[in-house]
Amino acid sequence: MSRFRKSVFLAIAILITAAALPAQTPPEKFLGFKVGADTKLADYNQIKAYFELLAKESPRLKLLTIGESTMKKPIIMAVISSEENLAKLDRYREILKKLRDPRTLSADEAARLAKEGKAIVLITCSLHSSEIGASQMSMELAYDLVTGKTPYDVKKILNDAILLLCPTHNPDGEQMVVDWYKKYVGTKYEGGNMPYLYHYYAGHDDNRDWYMFNLAETRAVTKVLYHDWLPLVHLDQHQQGSNGARIFIPPLMDPPLPNIHPLVWRTANLMGTSMAYDLQQNGKSGVVNGRSYTGWYIGACDDTPWLHNSIGLLSEAASVRLATPIYIEPTEIPKSYADKTMDFVDPWPGGWWRLRDIVDYEIIISKSLIKAAALHKEDLLFNYYRMCKDAIEKTEKNQPYAFVIPAKQHDYPTMLKMLEVLQMGGVEIHQAKAEFVAEGKYFPAGSFVVKMAQPYKAFAWTMLEKQKYPDLRQYPGGPPQPPYDNAGWTLPIQMGVACESIQDPFEAKLDKIVKVPYPPVPAGQGGADYVVLGSQVNASYPVVFALLKDAKAEAWRTKSKIIRKGFDIPAGSFIVKNSAEVKKALPGLLEKQHLAVIDLDAIEDIAKAPLKFHRVALYQSWRGNMDEGWTRYMFDDLGIPYTTIRNDYFKGLKEKKAEIKTDYDVLVFADENGTTIKSGQRAGFGGPGGMGPGGTVAGGTQATRPPVSTTPPEYEGGIGQDGVDALRTFVEKGGVVVLLNQACTLAFSEFDVPVRNALQNVDRTKFFCPTSILKILVDNETPIGYGMPKEAGAMFVNSLAFDTSSPGFDWGRKVVASYPEDEILQSGWLLGEDVLARKAVVVDTKYKDGRIILIGIRCQNRAQSHGTYKFLLNGLMYPESK
Ligand SMILES: [Zn+2]
Repeated sequence: MSRFRKSVFLAIAILITAAALPAQTPPEKFLGFKVGADTKLADYNQIKAYFELLAKESPRLKLLTIGESTMKKPIIMAVISSEENLAKLDRYREILKKLRDPRTLSADEAARLAKEGKAIVLITCSLHSSEIGASQMSMELAYDLVTGKTPYDVKKILNDAILLLCPTHNPDGEQMVVDWYKKYVGTKYEGGNMPYLYHYYAGHDDNRDWYMFNLAETRAVTKVLYHDWLPLVHLDQHQQGSNGARIFIPPLMDPPLPNIHPLVWRTANLMGTSMAYDLQQNGKSGVVNGRSYTGWYIGACDDTPWLHNSIGLLSEAASVRLATPIYIEPTEIPKSYADKTMDFVDPWPGGWWRLRDIVDYEIIISKSLIKAAALHKEDLLFNYYRMCKDAIEKTEKNQPYAFVIPAKQHDYPTMLKMLEVLQMGGVEIHQAKAEFVAEGKYFPAGSFVVKMAQPYKAFAWTMLEKQKYPDLRQYPGGPPQPPYDNAGWTLPIQMGVACESIQDPFEAKLDKIVKVPYPPVPAGQGGADYVVLGSQVNASYPVVFALLKDAKAEAWRTKSKIIRKGFDIPAGSFIVKNSAEVKKALPGLLEKQHLAVIDLDAIEDIAKAPLKFHRVALYQSWRGNMDEGWTRYMFDDLGIPYTTIRNDYFKGLKEKKAEIKTDYDVLVFADENGTTIKSGQRAGFGGPGGMGPGGTVAGGTQATRPPVSTTPPEYEGGIGQDGVDALRTFVEKGGVVVLLNQACTLAFSEFDVPVRNALQNVDRTKFFCPTSILKILVDNETPIGYGMPKEAGAMFVNSLAFDTSSPGFDWGRKVVASYPEDEILQSGWLLGEDVLARKAVVVDTKYKDGRIILIGIRCQNRAQSHGTYKFLLNGLMYPESK
């Protein structure tokens, strides 16, 4: 082939290739409507299909699957950048990983890498599925970026920045909400909220899971954040109430969590101001900063990056009714959002507010953030190195040298679970190869050590220390100013794990662990006539549950502590007869739970009560109760069998003249007011607990609900008087009702329990305790307290404290746990300790042949408080009294 012919051929080939590249399809062409159009929503399937199309059409967009949702949907993430950058993604990820560890990188080398590297930015959308604007916006944002429809030279910006765009990190909820909206559009229920949770387990609390990593969705994004990509900046886009500001963006308000590097806040403020600037120059009013949202960590998606030297940012746009526009009269805007102030320089005048407005605001801030990150990319990269270096080399005020987790634990497998949580958060953990002494304390070989000198020091420290929330008042001498949500969360106390803070450096032979070392299950277990499982281990409960249910095992619970050679078995431990069926089922169960059992040949001299398999039902209201969801999570996670029952179950009983006892042995009511359980009416979130600002409810149902009643009639009502009557008969005939936290109020209003709430009508100036961890004293020789240590940390979340009294005929009461005399606060914030002192927390009441168990705390709070799970588990496994 001649040279001339060859080049003509090549030119034609290039032309053909260019022509073969399809033009990028705009979202409106794909969807058939403009993004954000009134009453129009794209569901998750459509959003995913659009991104798949764009990935085919554009060389600037790669589509990845970063995980699978709870209901098995793929979670997608688009990577948008220049073609050159997309070809070298591994190199840019590697640069971030190198910058993270200054122990192996000099400042000169870091400066060189900062020049070479790119600003990786993560944008996540609509974690709260009813805050749906951002998920819709993501399609238009992606299209604009790959086609250059930006107010800046996109080629230049995408040369310096790599955008990771997650159209939604809650795909299940996105689908549910859009299906719900479409079902009712055009009816009087249009735009109302769903009567069930928009995350299978967590609902709105999917944004409180970001230190515990319980949910599949949290884990998928956490892997992107601290393991695979290490984005420098992360914006999580939300929506708030309708009548205030049009959008909130950082700076945040007081208080800040003390352990966070100041450069995190400075950079968050820089990015926030840049976004506000771009909104203003595009004529967008009503932008607020410095209000409502604090720099105090609460385990939200945008918070955890702060503890990893990454810039977490939050945006909160004003809501419409899903895709239905709203009109706001100027007089309906609160005065604080009607007047100009320095944190709110351009009030929005009122009028129509539509989904498209939300999309417009969010698209401006997204483009602004990518631009700002690209402009500052070298600083951002080097500062990331600088912050990680400071974390290792600088010792902050009150900083311990290390936390030590002793090898001897009350509940060893739960301690290992805590280590897994820390590892998911990127924490480096060591294990001692030999015994050592630190600050005069002896620690055996096998103990774990978390040194503070590590890149993610702030996360490790914040998880393991006790929080001290500052005493903030609404005005000097005035009532307390509530935190947004948690005041305290200290993981070891919540999980009942022994953990020592060691101030001074010490010597020990340590190995860094790669994987949490679950001990191998001893071979040849279960050779004797009986096996014993300790009541102090949470994992024992699901094993025994399975043996009772599937192996029809004969079992007992011990009535007191037993000391045998080499063993110290606490009261309430499980003895299981080692039948042929048990022998078959046991090894698999022990393997799954990493458990060892004790073999016993004779049990005649042991005081014990028979334990039967209990059929458990969990009540689910139509009020999207997150605590019910978390209870389901706890049961599913452990492997506790249960059935969900709703209002129609109780209605059906009356129609069939049937009884609960025929179907179930234990009924559990999660944290929900008794009035709501009975009537479906939403009772105020009364009590002195934690109602956050901005209408955000800490520990209630989903937030950002429209002010009008929009519930279709099939989701109205509660269990009704018939349900209450059926419950009474159930208890009389031997049933067990377990009431969690506010559900205890059902017992006060509907039963004559010899228990009252001592916090009823106590003024907030006399007693105040936002979500915090309090010390309780436990009687662990009584069935509901079995397996608990004598002292434990309990999550107080809009909780109760009980006065008990001498019971009437047919009734009995046993105080299982109570608050001590003093030093009640363990982590968080508590005012008016004397109001709680010596009050009961958990009470086991007896009525005729059955029981009503009142648990006045969140013993299974967000599936985080493993240390108090046993109160609920014991309620499910009450031994026979005869
Ligand atoms: Zn939200």
